[in-house]
Amino acid sequence: MDLPQRLLAIQEQLRPYPAARVLAVSKKVSAERLREAHALGLRHFGENYLQEAQAKITALADLDLCWHFIGRIQRNKTRDIARHFDWVESVDREILLARLDQERAGLPPLQILLEVAASGEENKGGIAPDQVIALARTVLRYPNLRLRGLMALVHPDPQEAVSNFRQMARLFQRLQAEFPEQAIDTLSMGTSGDYPQALAHGATEIRLGTVLFGARPKE
Ligand SMILES: *Cc1c(COP(=O)(O)O)cnc(C)c1O
Repeated sequence: MDLPQRLLAIQEQLRPYPAARVLAVSKKVSAERLREAHALGLRHFGENYLQEAQAKITALADLDLCWHFIGRIQRNKTRDIARHFDWVESVDREILLARLDQERAGLPPLQILLEVAASGEENKGGIAPDQVIALARTVLRYPNLRLRGLMALVHPDPQEAVSNFRQMARLFQRLQAEFPEQAIDTLSMGTSGDYPQALAHGATEIRLGTVLFGARPKE
């Protein structure tokens, strides 16, 4: 199966969820293939590595694409991330907010998701669920940032994943209730292996790499 067939199959599965969108995770995928993905209607692309992403963002500057940064954020990369991306989904500490805000000055606001360590696994990045409201409150202090919701990587075990999705859905509702004046509309969860479950639990964005573009070369 190639990209058009794969995308059609996914769009079929998305039909019951009109509020949900695909974020095409394009790490290790060439600019040419992203051009093809754009021609098929994909607009939101997620990248993990800044240098790799910058080359593609430049190569595809003629297209109306929306770029999401979804990788680990090194402090010394906040300037380029703030300048070149539309969304940052992997914010997990306060220091990043101040820097992203400062570097975004003069541009349209940067859309922010807080990454939650939903699986409870060590070394996976993300904030603990009980820190979400406090960090969200901090985002609101910065004029060049817009809080849009939450992102999570869940446990690889399917049963654990379902309980993680449930917890994320509750947390997302709590966030919306806590800040009713904010446009908090994005719950990014679910990848190639578990996106149907994520959709069933309220994901509004699924992050798909392998299932769209095929297996990636090993790191
Ligand atoms: C690579 C990656 C994905 C996509 O994973 P697939 O299993 O290939 O769909 C999603 N989210 C994040 C944060 C990633 O790093």
